Amino acid sequence: MNSQAFQTPIEYLKGVGLSRAEVLKKELQIVNFEDLLRHFPYKHIDRTRFYKIKDIHPDWPYVQVIARLTHKEIIGEKHTRRLVVQAKDNTGVIELVWFQGIRWVEKTLVVGKAYILFGKPGFFNGKAQMAHPEIEPYSAGALQQKGNLTLQPAYNSTEKLKQFSLDSKGLQKLIAVLLEQHLKDIHENLPLYIINRFKLIARADAYRHIHFPEDTARLNEALHRLKFEELFFLQLKLLKNKLNHDQKFKGNIFGKVGEFFNEFYEYKLPFALTNSQKRVLKEIRQDTQRGVQMNRLLQGDVGSGKTVVALMSMLIAIDNGFQTCIMAPTEILANQHYQTIKELVGDDFIEVALLTGSTSQKARRVLHERLESGQLKILIGTHALIEDKVQYQNLGFVVIDEQHRFGVEQRSKLWRKNAIPPHILVMTATPIPRTLAMTLYGDLDISVIDELPAGRKPIQTVHFYENQRLRMFGFMKQEIAKGRQIYVVYPLIQESEKLDLKNLTDGIDVMAHEFPLPDYRISIVHGKLKPAEKQFEMNRFIKGETQIMVATTVIEVGVNIPNASVMIIENAERFGLSQLHQLRGRVGRGAEQSFCILMSHHKLSHDGKTRLDTMVKTNNGFEIAEIDLQLRGPGNIEGTQQSGVLDLKVANLVTDQELLIQARKCVEDIFEKDPQLALPENQILHHSFQTKGHGLSWNKIS
Ligand code: ADP
Ligand code: MG
Repeated sequence: MNSQAFQTPIEYLKGVGLSRAEVLKKELQIVNFEDLLRHFPYKHIDRTRFYKIKDIHPDWPYVQVIARLTHKEIIGEKHTRRLVVQAKDNTGVIELVWFQGIRWVEKTLVVGKAYILFGKPGFFNGKAQMAHPEIEPYSAGALQQKGNLTLQPAYNSTEKLKQFSLDSKGLQKLIAVLLEQHLKDIHENLPLYIINRFKLIARADAYRHIHFPEDTARLNEALHRLKFEELFFLQLKLLKNKLNHDQKFKGNIFGKVGEFFNEFYEYKLPFALTNSQKRVLKEIRQDTQRGVQMNRLLQGDVGSGKTVVALMSMLIAIDNGFQTCIMAPTEILANQHYQTIKELVGDDFIEVALLTGSTSQKARRVLHERLESGQLKILIGTHALIEDKVQYQNLGFVVIDEQHRFGVEQRSKLWRKNAIPPHILVMTATPIPRTLAMTLYGDLDISVIDELPAGRKPIQTVHFYENQRLRMFGFMKQEIAKGRQIYVVYPLIQESEKLDLKNLTDGIDVMAHEFPLPDYRISIVHGKLKPAEKQFEMNRFIKGETQIMVATTVIEVGVNIPNASVMIIENAERFGLSQLHQLRGRVGRGAEQSFCILMSHHKLSHDGKTRLDTMVKTNNGFEIAEIDLQLRGPGNIEGTQQSGVLDLKVANLVTDQELLIQARKCVEDIFEKDPQLALPENQILHHSFQTKGHGLSWNKIS
C-alpha cells in the first residue's frame, strides 16, 4: 500500500472537514485515512433476503419485506402525534409507524404502490409492526441498482457522532468515498507465493469486501485474507525480534555435563524422570550450547516436576563453572524452593543459600562474600536477589518462578550483572493455551511438561450445592479422623472488603461450631492479618498443629503441604477457572488420595456452571486453560492484560487458532530459509521492516 496516501489527515477526505474530523478523532480515534479504512463494520445486515409478512418473528434484529401500501394517516395530538401506514403482501398485514419527519414521509408515500421495507420488526396487538423503517419504492430494476441485494455494513458510532450525521450510514458513506478515491493505493504486502499457497484474495479486494461485500462468500474471503495478514505480520515481528535477540545476545556455552550433574543423576535423584521432563532437559541442553542467550518459558501444572528440571539444568551450569539462582515471587515460596532443593541435593554436595527480606544483616554479609568469591553455587530468594549490592562472581543460569509477577525490566536487571547475560528459564504453573503463548510469548522459546509423574493419584473433584453442606462436614470429619488436613477457601471480593470479611467470618463461625475444640483446631488466614500473624498461622498448619485452614485466596500459590489432601472452595462459582485450578493444585502433593469440593449456590450462570463442570471433568491445566480462553476471551487471561500484542483488529485468538498456527508455521519456514529476508521473493517482507507504514497494521502492533 502506498502508506503516504493513507497517512493523510482525515479532514482532507471529501465530506469530512475540520469539525467532523475533530469528532472522528475524539470519538473513534480516527485521525487519518488509514484509521477510517480500518474502522471495520462490526457486522453486516443481510439484505439479500426478503421475508413474507406472516413469517416475521419479533426476535429478529432486521427484516426486509416487499409490501403494498393500503392506507396512511396522521393520528394523535402533540407527543403522541404519529404517522401510521398499513401495508400488506399476499400473506398478511404490517403496520409502519413514524414519530418524526411525519409530514415529509407522509407526502412521499403513495397508497397503492409497492415498497421495499427494511427495519427492526415488532409486534403490537398481534400485528407485525415496524417503527421508522427504511423504505423505498419497489421495482425489479431498483433491486439491482440500489444494491439492495447485498450485505449492508453496520459501523460503531456514538451519540456525539450522530449529531454530525455520522451514524452507521454516515460512516458508510465516508468509507465508500475513501475506497472510491484510494482503492488503487492499497498495495499488496505479501509475497505472491504466500498468496497462492494460502489462497488469499488481493489486499485491495479484501479491504473493499470487508466493507462492501457482494455476498457472504466474498465477506469471508476478505476476512480470511485480513486475518491471515494480521497474524502473519504479528508473528513476523515476534520471530524477527527473536532472531535479533539471538544475534545480539551472546550466551555462555555449557560445553560439558560434569560431576555435579552426574552424581546427582546417579545417586540422588529419587525417581525416574517423566518423558516430558527428559524432553525439556534436552531442549534446555540444546539451548545452552548454541552460544546464544536462552530465554525459555517452562509451563507445567503444579506438581508436574518443574523444579527438578530446573535444578538439573542448574547443575549443568555449575559443572561449567557458573553460579545459578532461583527467584520466587514470595518469601514463603522462596523458602519452600530452598527446602526442596536442600533436600534433593543433600548435605556436603553443593553450596546453597537463601536470601529474602528477612535474612539478617550478618548472614547477608557472609552470603555476599561467598557469592563474590564464587563458592556459593545456588542462591534462592525473592526480589532481594536483584538488589544492586548482590554481586555474583559468574552468574550463568537464572530460574524465575511464576513469571508474570516479574516484569521485563526486573529480568533485564539480572542480565546486567554479567558481560554475557545468564540463560533464563521462566517457570509457570499457569498454563496458557498454545496459540496464546505463541502470541504473548512469541519471542520466547516454550517448553511444556504435560504429564504428571507416574503413580500420582488424580485429585477427585465434586461439585456440591448448599443443601449438601452436611455431607461436606461429614466428609471433612472422616478425612481429619484419617489424619488429613483441609483447606477451606473463600473468595476475595475486591469491590467490597467488608462483605468479603463478613463472608469469611460467618464461615468461620459455622466452621468453629461444627468443629469444636479440643478435637479440632483451625488456622485462619486473611488479607487483614499482619505478615507475621499470617506466617504464624501458616506455620501452625504446616506443622500439623491445626487440621483446618480457613483462608481467603491470599494463601500463597504453590505452597506445598503434602498432608493437606482436601481443598474446599466456598462460593466456587465466583472464581475464574484458572484460579480454581490453581487452588486445587495445592492438594494432591502427597501419597494420599486428594479431594476438591466445590461449594456453590443453586443459582448458577451458564458460564459459572461450565467452569464448575470443567473442574469436575478434568485435572489437565492445558485443557482448562483452553476452556478458560473460550469463556473469557484472550484479553482476560491472566498475564495478558498489559500486552499490546492482543490488540488484534480482525483476527480472534479464540476462533482463529488454526489460522494462527498456519501463519506462525509460514513465518518460521521463511526465517529458516531466509533469515535476512534477502531473497527476491521476500523483498516485500524485508521492506515492511523499513517503512513505518509497512502494512496498514504495523504501528498498531508494536
Ligand atoms: P512443580 O514445581 O512443577 O510444581 P515439583 O518439581 O515441585 O513440581 O514436583 C512436585 C513433586 O513431585 C515433588 O515432590 C517432586 O519431588 C516430585 N517429582 C518430580 N518429578 C518426579 C518424577 N519424575 N517422578 C516422581 N516424582 C516426581
Ligand atoms: Mg514448584
